[in-house]
Amino acid sequence: MNLFEVTGVSQDYGWGQVLNDISFHLAEGENFGIIGPNGSGKSTLIRVISGLLSPSQGEVRFRGKPVHTYRKKELARQIAVLEQEGTALLPFSVKDVVAMGRYPWLKLFSDINSEDERIIAEVLKTLGLWEVRAKPVNTLSGGQRQLVSLARAMAQQPSALILDEPTTYLDIGHQVLVMQHVRRWYMEQGITVIMVLHDLNLAGQYCDQLLLLEQGQIRAWGKAAEVLDEGTITSVYRTGLIKVNHPVLGVPQFLLASV
Ligand code: ADP
Ligand code: MG
Repeated sequence: MNLFEVTGVSQDYGWGQVLNDISFHLAEGENFGIIGPNGSGKSTLIRVISGLLSPSQGEVRFRGKPVHTYRKKELARQIAVLEQEGTALLPFSVKDVVAMGRYPWLKLFSDINSEDERIIAEVLKTLGLWEVRAKPVNTLSGGQRQLVSLARAMAQQPSALILDEPTTYLDIGHQVLVMQHVRRWYMEQGITVIMVLHDLNLAGQYCDQLLLLEQGQIRAWGKAAEVLDEGTITSVYRTGLIKVNHPVLGVPQFLLASV
């Protein structure tokens, strides 16, 4: 059975169509990327998939059941979402923010127990946040804040992780760090990952399957190496690009064709 099944989804915010008849599906354990130019509908699609937004038309099923029929807490045990703007500026400590990931699992009126504490500590150590656990998140760098958001999602122990541009605004070292943590989590736990990526080279390097959006429609969907076709990408992004193979990894990468 497919984990996610998206059928005929369209979204209209009132001024025109932002998503137009989107259908695709995703098996459990996939590593799936959504790419497309600014404004092509990526964030909207992610909000629809994760049940945060009911589309004007069409339906999303998660494990065979319409996503909007799940109770909020039930869905949060299954799907963790890192939205584009993230947790960031709350004046809570790193540990408190990560602890929020456990809320969907708490019984009514009960607090974090020793098992939750163990999970939180393990996640903090895995992501290298143990030393800063008492610091308010709004005093951390952008890169560390993004790791805190990821840590909160990990503490949630979801079966699917949805990330909206997790590496935008991060320096290259933190970009790789965030992507490597997601990859390791995906490889070790077999979770399903859906991420919107701005950077085509990261998409080529870290995603197995890709969906390319152009003005609210699916332009291509399939294996990353096939979707990242030089002609397709050049036409969708309206700029000259040269596709090369990564000299070490062999995955597709793009260079700008002109100065
Ligand atoms: P992307 O993430 O690919 O940049 P979005 O899904 O954020 O694209 O946006 C697609 C289009 O929908 C854009 O033109 C954006 O301005 C518009 N849009 C997004 N959210 C809303 C909203 N809540 N109300 C009205 N228009 C919106
Ligand atoms: Mg977006």
